[in-house]
Amino acid sequence: QSTPVITIDGPGGSGKGTIAGLLAARIGWNLLDSGALYRLLAFAAQNHGVDLTNEEVLTRLAAHLDVQFVADEGQGEQRIILEGEDVTRAIRTEAIGAGASQVASLPAVREALLQRQQAFREAPGLVADGRDMGTVVFSDAELKIFLTASPQERAERRYKQLLQKGETANLASLLDEIMARDERDMNRSVAPLKPADDAIMVDSTDMSIEQVLETVQMEAHKRG
Ligand code: C5P
Repeated sequence: QSTPVITIDGPGGSGKGTIAGLLAARIGWNLLDSGALYRLLAFAAQNHGVDLTNEEVLTRLAAHLDVQFVADEGQGEQRIILEGEDVTRAIRTEAIGAGASQVASLPAVREALLQRQQAFREAPGLVADGRDMGTVVFSDAELKIFLTASPQERAERRYKQLLQKGETANLASLLDEIMARDERDMNRSVAPLKPADDAIMVDSTDMSIEQVLETVQMEAHKRG
């Protein structure tokens, strides 16, 4: 029997990264933050002066990304190292998010990252979060969650996150950026953001992190 996978897909700011990290730490499974791979590619492209529409060069860059994910024991977080440099925070900006969404619309880039993502499937299990974990990358996963929240709520979460990190932010422009990214992610021709047919829908707008975690764990238990 193959290694079990729980997929958590959804739009930016829905809380999927937080939930995936905490769940993986709690049940002792491996974690794949697939969005980080697209962010890393956008970041590397920027560093190397590669145009975000140059599919050929971006695809080569994607295949050779020198990246390490280092588990931060028990915290549900991980350090991300690109070419020897800690970029954990640097890749979280809205600008890199927008760049990630741009490179993510290129079919050859997605193909180049596919095997890389599937290689994270190691015993005892994997929690994978992103946009197409349940529909494409791990379409045979035993549990698929599609996590949503209203755009307003997602913008407010990002806003608070940024302020907590001591950064400045503008709520209205965050909302604009979130909606523009949703639009691009949902309407692209390859692997668009959409729930898998067999996904469980969870709307986290009025739920705490703990409540979402409990809901996901309850669904996991049902499946043994
Ligand atoms: O989840 P995160 O905000 O880090 O993802 C950044 C961007 O990467 C998304 O807006 C999306 O365009 C892209 N992405 C994707 N497929 C995934 C994960 C992320 O296309 N599985």
